[in-house]
Amino acid sequence: MNSYCNGLQCRECGRKFDLEPIFACDFCFGPLEVDYNYENIKADLNKNKIESGPSSLWRYAPLLPCNPEFKIDLGDGFTPLIKANRLAKAIGLDHLWIKNDTVNPTWSFKDRVVSVAIAKAIEFNFSAIACASTGNLANSVAAHAAAAGLDCYVFIPQDLEQGKVVGSAIYAPNLIKVEGSYDDVNRLCTELSMVKNWAFVNINVRPYYSEGSKTLGFEICEQLGWRTPDHIVAPMASGSMYTKIWKGIKEFHKLGLIDEPKVRLSGAQASGCSPITTAYENNSFTFVPQKPDTIAKSLAIGNPADGYYALKQMEETNGHAAQASDSEIIEAMNLLAETEGIFAETAGGVTIACLKKLVETNKITKSEETVAVISGGGLKTIEAVSDVANNAMLVKPNIDSFEMNLTH
Ligand SMILES: *Cc1c(COP(=O)(O)O)cnc(C)c1O
Ligand SMILES: [Zn+2]
Repeated sequence: MNSYCNGLQCRECGRKFDLEPIFACDFCFGPLEVDYNYENIKADLNKNKIESGPSSLWRYAPLLPCNPEFKIDLGDGFTPLIKANRLAKAIGLDHLWIKNDTVNPTWSFKDRVVSVAIAKAIEFNFSAIACASTGNLANSVAAHAAAAGLDCYVFIPQDLEQGKVVGSAIYAPNLIKVEGSYDDVNRLCTELSMVKNWAFVNINVRPYYSEGSKTLGFEICEQLGWRTPDHIVAPMASGSMYTKIWKGIKEFHKLGLIDEPKVRLSGAQASGCSPITTAYENNSFTFVPQKPDTIAKSLAIGNPADGYYALKQMEETNGHAAQASDSEIIEAMNLLAETEGIFAETAGGVTIACLKKLVETNKITKSEETVAVISGGGLKTIEAVSDVANNAMLVKPNIDSFEMNLTH
């Protein structure tokens, strides 16, 4: 099917390719991207159709490069957009929303990209599904592969949080811990993808996988009443999600679903792994790879595949980049939880800490309507904030003991 997709196209030289499991241009080595037939999509898609669709990212199926017949639907996407008045007040904004992707089936935004990648892998008839992961991707790939009954190989750095390791192992994939950083894991998996008939979701089917992140942009617009906010702040690891949110918004405009977007997009990184933010701070469009050392392990990609495109997009949308230290990340995780009742993982702490800095430095002004993307749930990175458990009181099971402890 899919008269909605023309094929793949090189982002650098524009050369066209068929819709196949390839990811780099064999002429210039540029990354490949899906090339859509927007006229066909426009003929079939309108606000009413989307609004009466399923309460998942599959409501946008014509804008995804896969046949929804092959979907493994755990209820991914269409997460709440929450007006965050208490957090807004605490950091000095008039209007703030949290896009709460902690409530996805495996508690992170990765369920969006995996939904598309696994449907495509099934359509392509791969014998197994695999990935190189900083943690959340492994959880999502393992869960969706289990639900599909597919063989699964997930590769992770050896030093991940227990929540992320157990959060993969529970689905009984082949779980491989690699002695090295994510960048080492990624290099190994790239080599393996050449000799195995496996769909590595973020490597050999990456052009399809990455399209799943557009749904964050679609949902933000739809949930605000078919319009864009003034500013979006999103975390950056490879830079893929950050760039695809903007692609999604531009597509909505192309289809006449929203007015000309004026939204600015800013990116958030941890200081212990900030190649994109550091390049931004140096006014450079080329980043220097880093060796990660941060509690925000899900964002710990030292050599980001979409770093260059992220930097271009900051310029294009008048956005900014910021970075946050480990202690600022923890403080922001606590602040988000205490003001809005949302327990985010360390990457969410990065986003809120960077949002706060952007407001403090006037890079986001008080009156800008701002959306912060919270991309993963806090029970996966309990290590970072487990100190709060020491605040519990221990009492004897009688009122006197309780009242005595309460006054102390
Ligand atoms: C993967 C991930 C991101 C963003 O990753 P990109 O590679 O930049 O698309 C953000 N937050 C969390 C929690 C993640 O797991
Ligand atoms: Zn090319």
